[in-house]
Amino acid sequence: MFLKQIILKNFKSFAGKTVLDFPVFFTAIVGPNGSGKSNIVDAIRWALGEQSFKNLRVAKGSDLIFSSSKKNSTAGFAEVELVFDNKQSFFPLEFSEVSLMRRIDREENNDYYLNHQSCRLKDIIEISAAAKLGLKGFSIINQGSVENILKVSSQERRVMLEENLGLKNLEIKEEEAKRKLETALVNSDKIQALRQEILPHLRSLKRQVSRWEKIERIKEDLVIIERKYFVNLYDQILKEKRGSSIDFNQTKQKIENLEKIIKEKSREIGLLDEENDKNLETKIKNLTQEIIDLQNQKSLLLRDLGRKEVDTDMNISRESLGEQISSLKKGLESLLPLSDLREIKRKISKIIKDLESFFGSGNNKRQQKENGKIEEIQIALDKIESEINQKNKLLNNFQEQQNQKSLNFKKRFQEIELKRGEKEALYRELEREEILNEKFNLHLENFKRRLKESGLEFEEIERIYQNSKETELVSDEEFSRLESRILKGKQGLAEIGVEDPTVIAEYKEVTNRYDFLTQQINDLNKAIEDLKILIKELEEQIEQKFNEAILEINNQFNNYFRLIFNGGSAKLVQKKEKTNGENLAWGVDIKVNIPKTKLQSLEMLSGGEKTLVAICLLFALIEQSNVPLLVVDEIDAALDEDNSRRFSEILKALTKRTQFIIITHNRLTMNAVEVIYGITLSQDGSSKVFSLKLEEAEALAE
Ligand code: ATP
Repeated sequence: MFLKQIILKNFKSFAGKTVLDFPVFFTAIVGPNGSGKSNIVDAIRWALGEQSFKNLRVAKGSDLIFSSSKKNSTAGFAEVELVFDNKQSFFPLEFSEVSLMRRIDREENNDYYLNHQSCRLKDIIEISAAAKLGLKGFSIINQGSVENILKVSSQERRVMLEENLGLKNLEIKEEEAKRKLETALVNSDKIQALRQEILPHLRSLKRQVSRWEKIERIKEDLVIIERKYFVNLYDQILKEKRGSSIDFNQTKQKIENLEKIIKEKSREIGLLDEENDKNLETKIKNLTQEIIDLQNQKSLLLRDLGRKEVDTDMNISRESLGEQISSLKKGLESLLPLSDLREIKRKISKIIKDLESFFGSGNNKRQQKENGKIEEIQIALDKIESEINQKNKLLNNFQEQQNQKSLNFKKRFQEIELKRGEKEALYRELEREEILNEKFNLHLENFKRRLKESGLEFEEIERIYQNSKETELVSDEEFSRLESRILKGKQGLAEIGVEDPTVIAEYKEVTNRYDFLTQQINDLNKAIEDLKILIKELEEQIEQKFNEAILEINNQFNNYFRLIFNGGSAKLVQKKEKTNGENLAWGVDIKVNIPKTKLQSLEMLSGGEKTLVAICLLFALIEQSNVPLLVVDEIDAALDEDNSRRFSEILKALTKRTQFIIITHNRLTMNAVEVIYGITLSQDGSSKVFSLKLEEAEALAE
């Protein structure tokens, strides 16, 4: 036995607790109309997870709970427990007994239990499918629904067949794989969209960053060019200095020597003995003054003398005296512009002689008297005269000295001027040299500053210059080419701009994200491929198993058909047809040949014939698929005597492997079963169950 026991609590018409044991393979349930027989089939369905109210023949969930018109006898919940023997492992569970239980309360909360442990509906559906108890299959056939297999579409038929062929689990796997595939495809699309979204940003970041990557290369090139350029520039600067090649120290030495000579010569010509010079000059000046003073004294004396002589000589006419005086005045006036003392003295002597000759004649007494005085004056005059002569001599001497000195001075002075000229020339050279040096230093400084700006070391350039100027130095043309290449390189760098670390960080981050998304897409694509393969394999497996099963079913189907219809033929035919969408799906058609007629279409069969075809197919299915349990509600109602007999015989044969629970009014069926349960409706509206003997059952059924 597979189904060992059904325990009902307040389910539909079964008030309180009702236990039905199934100790044998073939059990019939009999009873009058409306006694609650079909409620047992509903109970089995419900416990196996049925969700359709229609299939359970209720309007709502709470209709499943026993309710009575009598006061206080309405229950708060309904519960059905099915106890299975699992020694043959129809359920994929490691229990020798499996209990499936469902419970509903008035609030319509459904609870499911597997071996009294709370579980999900999904678990119940999965393990029932594994045990070929799928609700869409043929294991539980409601009253009047055996012909359903003929009425449904070919695709629905295929689903029903698969359920009982135990392919449901493979289908569940396939559906799961398809669901996963769909999710993976959706996710892959989403991630690809995300990746696509960041791609333009990543591209722009990459452009920026790769431009900065160029910086290093440009800088490296630039350093090489600049090094060469600066070595050449250094050469040019050094050349400037080489242009003037005077020896600084030597020139300075020369100037010093010249200065010494100039000093020496200056001292020699008395330039440094100015005191002496001044003395001589003062002497000459003083002496000249003394002479002039003496001349004045002499003039005064001569005038006295003249007056005395006039007094003595009255013969001298007034006119001639006047003439004499004006000539004297003229003579004296002519002295005034003169500076030469000798000339002055000569002229004075002449004036004196003229005067003497004018006053030389005439003696008288008065003259005699005056002669003494004249003689005195004469003596004084002579004295002054000799003094003047003496001083003139001295003056001449001094002047001679001065002239000599002046000549000497002139000569030496010219020599000194010459030396001074030489010195000035050397100075100018030195000055020029200093300017050149200044310029050189400035250029060198500028050069070093530019080197520093370019990040180069002066020592390095100098070293290259010293070691390999032969190879490094280039033509002017090449030099200006270097210059423009440097300019171009620097412009390039300026255009690229300065590295922005935040952009680089962002680039890394976005790249990581992009790579991460790519990795995810790759993973998903791999999963998609795997799932596609799995789905294909499952499809093939289902296909193969299904095809094999169809072959076997057809064999049995045909046998049962020929047995019941006394000949003819029947078979299932697979065909691919369009579903409501565009997809092609497999469906199963039924083809029959009724003997002695040309009828082929199922629609043209009578109601009884239809039931017979359906039963033939059901038997074939049971035989092929090794279904452990079959619950059928009055499928034998439409059979005539002959067919009822055949039906019960076949059933008997099948129950060697399959457990049957059959609700029936058919006497011939009742004859074939081992245990009969009778059901009646008691006064309070609840169903009661009891075991019956065949005769009792027949009586009850009637
Ligand atoms: P038939 O031989 O005519 O097919 P049956 O024996 O199969 O009849 P069922 O359909 O199983 O009868 O039982 C129907 C009976 O169950 C009805 O009398 C109905 O009132 C009763 N019933 C259904 N639901 C409940 C419920 N929730 N509480 C009480 N009785 C209920």
